[in-house]
Order: sequence, then C-alpha cells, then structure tokens
Amino acid sequence: APRVGVLALQGGVAEHASMLRELGAEPVLVKTAEQLTGLDAIVLPGGESSTMDRLLRLFGLRDPLRDAVLGGLPTLGTCAGLILLASGIEDPAPGQQSLEVLDVTVARNAFGPQTASEEVTLAWGGGGDVVRAAFIRAPAVTRTGEGVEVLARHRGEVVAVASGAVVGISFHPELTGETAVHRHLLSLVAARRGLPA
Ligand code: GLN
Repeated sequence: APRVGVLALQGGVAEHASMLRELGAEPVLVKTAEQLTGLDAIVLPGGESSTMDRLLRLFGLRDPLRDAVLGGLPTLGTCAGLILLASGIEDPAPGQQSLEVLDVTVARNAFGPQTASEEVTLAWGGGGDVVRAAFIRAPAVTRTGEGVEVLARHRGEVVAVASGAVVGISFHPELTGETAVHRHLLSLVAARRGLPA
C-alpha cells in the first residue's frame, strides 16, 4: 500500500488519515523531519495556516518538507494546507510565511467567516466530474502562475489548482466523504511509480 503522510502538527488530521485508509493507502502521521522519509505522497490538512507555519519552523520541518515537495513528492494541500503551499499570501497573519512551492497567490478567509461549514457540489476538472465540497473559513486563489491548472471554482473564485504533482484545494473533501481528490493524489503516486492508476 502507498505510504501517505498526513502533516500532523495541527488541524484536521484524523479525517484525512481515515479517508486514506478507506482508499487502501497507509496513512503516516508526520510530526518530525525523519517521518518524511519513505513517503509516497503527503497531505497538508486544514486548520490554521499561521499556526501550522509556526510549528513547521519550530520543529525544523519547514525546509525538509519544502525540499520533499520540490523533489516531486505528490502533495495535496487542503484549505490551510493550500495556504501553506502557496508562493504568496495576500493577507498573512503577522509574521506568517509559506512553503512557496505552488505558484499561486491566495487570500485567506475569502468567503466570509463561516462558523458552520457550507457544503456545495462543484464541477471538477474538465471531464464532467463533480465533487462534494465543504468550505470553512476557506481561502481563494487570486493569482495562478504559469503551468498552474485550475480544477474548480466556487462563486467565481478559483478553489482548486494543480501544478505537476502538487494539488491545492480551498475546501474539505474529507468532511463530506468525497474521495475523488484523495483518489487523484493516489493516481499521482501510481503515475510516479509507472503503474496504472
Ligand atoms: N482560515 C484558515 C487559515 O487561514 C483556514 C481554514 C481551514 O483550513 N478550514 O489557515
């Protein structure tokens, strides 16, 4: 089974781990740089991006994680995880940094404060697929760089992008039981191994 890390410093870790297990992958909770070795992919969950950024740097995980993603490790960032991946944040918290591995700019909390999650169905990719998405204090992508593909929009804003083996989404598929995005991540693992997806 593919070993898929879930960054486990803060946020919605358990939901991603159980969805990965359900899809036949082996989730690996990642709290240290050592735990990055031997992974086939990684998920950066939702939560609070400024807190995750602070903990990443405190635990010496920022640079090793950045190197792994730049090295081609298939990566899925959801919500706060997308903010971590972005090369720019329009409205960072004081001192907030990001990994700068995905050439997009994001705006945090772009859909209002949303204390409860909002669930919607979104068109996904160009092939007629849809995903059930939950938005909670979600970011929007306000700029996409060269080679960044837009996979979904919500209320006119870009909410899902991909570049190489990096996928970033504003919403929470793990809260609606939506497996398409995680299956997409696992297909990137299979493609990298040269196996059929
Ligand atoms: N608004 C949060 C942030 O800035 C993200 C919210 C989420 O991950 N659900 O990190």
